[in-house]
Amino acid sequence: MSKILKKLILIMNLDCRHAAGLMSQGLDKQLSIPEKIALRLHLLICQACRRYRRQLNVLQRIFHHLAQTDSYDKIALSIFSAERLKAFRQRLLKNL
Ligand SMILES: [Zn+2]
Repeated sequence: MSKILKKLILIMNLDCRHAAGLMSQGLDKQLSIPEKIALRLHLLICQACRRYRRQLNVLQRIFHHLAQTDSYDKIALSIFSAERLKAFRQRLLKNL
């Protein structure tokens, strides 16, 4: 299968779980152009994933803020946030 055909299949077949995975990956690394296109097209038609992306952006801002707090606060909030984030992410993925 040609590389271009594989990219087209990715764009046309992106489901919510894959879209959520790409959004999470996009926080840590640069997505490829086909991944970006597939995700943008999916976000155009999927309200649940748009909501998930907004929530990820809120969490990203919270963690950015945590990175700038004092170390004691950072440790306490990180433990709290890690537990909350895990539960939050599981609830979100269950609703997709
Ligand atoms: Zn979706």
